Amino acid sequence: MAGLKCKVNAKGRVTVRFKRFTRANLRILTAVYEVAEKTTSVRDIVITSANDGRHSRRPLSQHYKDAAVDIRTHSFRRVEARRRFQGALTHELGPLFYVVYEGRGTRNAHIHVQQRKGTTYTGKLA
Ligand SMILES: [Zn+2]
Repeated sequence: MAGLKCKVNAKGRVTVRFKRFTRANLRILTAVYEVAEKTTSVRDIVITSANDGRHSRRPLSQHYKDAAVDIRTHSFRRVEARRRFQGALTHELGPLFYVVYEGRGTRNAHIHVQQRKGTTYTGKLA
Protein backbone atom coordinates (compact mmCIF):
# COMPACT_ATOMS: atom_id res chain seq x y z
CA MET A 1 0.00 0.00 0.00
CA ALA A 2 1.93 3.01 -1.30
CA GLY A 3 1.45 6.56 -0.05
CA LEU A 4 1.19 9.67 -2.19
CA LYS A 5 3.49 12.63 -1.76
CA CYS A 6 5.09 15.56 -3.55
CA LYS A 7 8.68 15.79 -4.70
CA VAL A 8 11.00 17.69 -2.36
CA ASN A 9 14.40 19.24 -3.05
CA ALA A 10 17.65 18.60 -1.14
CA LYS A 11 16.48 20.99 1.58
CA GLY A 12 13.26 19.09 2.03
CA ARG A 13 11.15 21.81 0.44
CA VAL A 14 8.26 20.79 -1.76
CA THR A 15 8.96 21.74 -5.37
CA VAL A 16 5.56 20.90 -6.83
CA ARG A 17 3.26 23.84 -7.42
CA PHE A 18 -0.49 23.67 -7.71
CA LYS A 19 -1.80 27.10 -8.62
CA ARG A 20 -5.46 26.28 -8.81
CA PHE A 21 -7.40 23.17 -7.94
CA THR A 22 -9.69 22.07 -10.71
CA ARG A 23 -12.06 19.17 -11.17
CA ALA A 24 -9.44 17.74 -13.53
CA ASN A 25 -6.42 17.82 -11.22
CA LEU A 26 -8.49 16.76 -8.19
CA ARG A 27 -9.80 13.79 -10.16
CA ILE A 28 -6.27 12.89 -11.23
CA LEU A 29 -5.00 13.09 -7.63
CA THR A 30 -7.90 11.01 -6.32
CA ALA A 31 -7.31 8.35 -8.95
CA VAL A 32 -3.56 8.30 -8.30
CA TYR A 33 -4.26 7.93 -4.57
CA GLU A 34 -6.66 5.05 -5.12
CA VAL A 35 -4.24 3.22 -7.39
CA ALA A 36 -1.35 3.95 -4.99
CA GLU A 37 -3.31 2.26 -2.19
CA LYS A 38 -3.30 -0.93 -4.25
CA THR A 39 0.37 -0.62 -5.20
CA THR A 40 2.92 -2.65 -3.23
CA SER A 41 5.97 -2.29 -5.49
CA VAL A 42 7.01 1.15 -4.16
CA ARG A 43 6.74 2.86 -0.78
CA ASP A 44 5.37 6.13 -2.17
CA ILE A 45 4.02 7.44 -5.42
CA VAL A 46 5.68 10.83 -5.95
CA ILE A 47 4.13 13.74 -7.81
CA THR A 48 7.03 15.56 -9.47
CA SER A 49 5.21 18.39 -11.20
CA ALA A 50 1.85 20.08 -11.60
CA ASN A 51 1.58 23.72 -12.71
CA ASP A 52 5.30 24.47 -12.51
CA GLY A 53 8.58 23.83 -14.24
CA ARG A 54 9.04 23.71 -17.94
CA HIS A 55 6.74 21.58 -19.95
CA SER A 56 6.61 20.99 -23.64
CA ARG A 57 4.29 23.04 -25.81
CA ARG A 58 4.37 25.95 -23.41
CA PRO A 59 2.00 27.69 -22.86
CA LEU A 60 -0.42 25.15 -24.30
CA SER A 61 0.50 22.26 -22.02
CA GLN A 62 -2.31 21.04 -19.80
CA HIS A 63 0.11 21.64 -16.90
CA TYR A 64 -0.48 25.37 -17.30
CA LYS A 65 -4.22 24.82 -17.27
CA ASP A 66 -4.12 23.03 -13.91
CA ALA A 67 -5.15 19.85 -15.63
CA ALA A 68 -2.02 17.65 -15.60
CA VAL A 69 0.45 16.09 -13.18
CA ASP A 70 3.67 14.13 -13.58
CA ILE A 71 4.56 11.05 -11.54
CA ARG A 72 8.06 9.76 -10.77
CA THR A 73 8.83 6.41 -12.32
CA HIS A 74 12.43 5.70 -11.30
CA SER A 75 11.12 4.54 -7.93
CA PHE A 76 9.62 1.52 -9.73
CA ARG A 77 12.48 -0.95 -9.79
CA ARG A 78 10.82 -3.20 -12.34
CA VAL A 79 9.35 -2.16 -15.67
CA GLU A 80 6.44 -4.53 -15.06
CA ALA A 81 5.53 -2.75 -11.83
CA ARG A 82 5.55 0.63 -13.55
CA ARG A 83 3.42 -0.75 -16.38
CA ARG A 84 0.95 -2.25 -13.93
CA PHE A 85 0.64 1.06 -12.12
CA GLN A 86 0.21 2.95 -15.39
CA GLY A 87 -2.40 0.48 -16.62
CA ALA A 88 -4.37 0.64 -13.37
CA LEU A 89 -4.32 4.44 -13.47
CA THR A 90 -5.45 4.53 -17.10
CA HIS A 91 -8.29 2.19 -16.22
CA GLU A 92 -9.27 4.16 -13.12
CA LEU A 93 -9.38 7.49 -14.97
CA GLY A 94 -11.17 6.26 -18.06
CA PRO A 95 -11.27 7.77 -21.55
CA LEU A 96 -11.56 11.44 -20.53
CA PHE A 97 -7.94 11.40 -19.37
CA TYR A 98 -4.66 10.57 -21.04
CA VAL A 99 -1.85 8.67 -19.28
CA VAL A 100 1.51 8.33 -21.04
CA TYR A 101 5.05 7.30 -20.17
CA GLU A 102 7.32 10.15 -21.31
CA GLY A 103 11.09 10.49 -21.57
CA ARG A 104 11.68 6.74 -21.83
CA GLY A 105 15.33 5.89 -21.16
CA THR A 106 16.23 9.37 -19.87
CA ARG A 107 16.65 10.91 -16.43
CA ASN A 108 13.41 12.75 -17.10
CA ALA A 109 11.32 9.60 -17.52
CA HIS A 110 7.94 10.01 -15.85
CA ILE A 111 4.25 9.24 -16.20
CA HIS A 112 2.34 12.25 -17.52
CA VAL A 113 -1.39 12.37 -16.73
CA GLN A 114 -3.73 14.95 -18.18
CA GLN A 115 -7.28 15.81 -19.00
CA ARG A 116 -7.88 15.19 -22.71
CA LYS A 117 -7.04 18.24 -24.79
CA GLY A 118 -10.02 20.32 -25.79
CA THR A 119 -12.19 18.96 -22.99
CA THR A 120 -13.21 20.27 -19.57
CA TYR A 121 -13.73 17.50 -17.07
CA THR A 122 -17.09 17.75 -15.31
CA GLY A 123 -17.37 14.18 -14.01
CA LYS A 124 -17.05 12.64 -10.56
CA LEU A 125 -14.12 13.37 -8.29
CA ALA A 126 -13.81 9.93 -6.74
ZN1 LIG B 1 3.69 16.30 -17.78
